[in-house]
Amino acid sequence: MHFITMGTNLNISTIKNLWPPSGEPLIIAGPCSAESEEQLSETAQILALNPKVKIFRAGIWKPRTRPDGFEGIGSIGLSWLKKIKESTGLLTTVEVATSSHIEECLKNDIDILWIGARTVGNPFSMQEIAETLRGCDIPVMIKNPLNPDLKLWIGAFERLNNVGINKLMAIHRGFSAYNSKPYRNAPYWEIPIELKRIVPGLPIICDPSHIAGDSNLIAQVSQRALDLEMNGLMIEVHPNPKAALTDAKQQLTPDAFNFLLDTLIFRSEKGNNTFQNKLANLRAKIDIVDDELIQILAKRMNLVSEIGNFKKEHNITILQLKRWNEIINNRLEKAEQMGLNRNFILHLLETLHQESIQIQNDILNKDNS
Ligand code: PEP
Ligand code: MN
Repeated sequence: MHFITMGTNLNISTIKNLWPPSGEPLIIAGPCSAESEEQLSETAQILALNPKVKIFRAGIWKPRTRPDGFEGIGSIGLSWLKKIKESTGLLTTVEVATSSHIEECLKNDIDILWIGARTVGNPFSMQEIAETLRGCDIPVMIKNPLNPDLKLWIGAFERLNNVGINKLMAIHRGFSAYNSKPYRNAPYWEIPIELKRIVPGLPIICDPSHIAGDSNLIAQVSQRALDLEMNGLMIEVHPNPKAALTDAKQQLTPDAFNFLLDTLIFRSEKGNNTFQNKLANLRAKIDIVDDELIQILAKRMNLVSEIGNFKKEHNITILQLKRWNEIINNRLEKAEQMGLNRNFILHLLETLHQESIQIQNDILNKDNS
């Protein structure tokens, strides 16, 4: 995945009181969909017994791929959530996609709104949502769009920022891909990591349920998210997943969910002093190696220019397949002897080759333009 370095002036205010003081991740849990008052309140009562759970999620209006599925219980579910909030103390969050969804949620004291993957990708919907939220002071979580388009994701944050919403969080729920196996949605971790780099103050919650699509894979995706310093997890929990009206394969039973939270390893981002010193030392070494790498790359590209000029003088074609095959075979053999991953080196060589051809092409066309 390649990123165009982009900037943004997003203004994110911290919603500090949402996070446990220990620095542990924010845990959001609840069913994919609110199905009945009993199902909803039973799930909430059990989840509220786990002190790690802060926010209760439930889909009230469900975006379905085909028209014959369960499309959500509708506004009545909001009144159930209001009661749950009063009886358990959990905060509540609901997916909104239209102005009327937002108005209904605000009327029913929903604490946090989230915008689903299908809506984020549509600038018209995002603009409508932004206009409805103008002047509100409610936190909003924005899921990544279905397609791996970081600009579109950031654009959604900018639209909300433009109307004064700055209590913002991101939810990483994976991306549609032709081959996302073994997951339902491809995680493409580099995208949320790049988002964090571009907008350092923005909390990113991982939604392992929609990435995995399979209750057996939730643990590994959750651990990966925590190891990559994601700031929280949003997990679908249903008292009887097999009978769930939506996303039956990926919802956890409350027991499986509690077990998951007990077994996940929350690694500290900082560590103690000895750890910090050793890490600083290793990072300094990496800095030196990277510096050398850049110098070596510059040296290689200078040679490429020299060859390009030479070929031009003698009217020789740029691409010489025999030479390129020799390079690949010889470098791969060496790389393997050094214990380097073959695919990684192949990618690297291809990138180098593309750049080398580009440089020679520019040389060839310089005086002819
Ligand atoms: C959901 O959270 O239940 C949902 C519909 O998610 P997404 O928008 O990520 O598909
Ligand atoms: Mn779901």
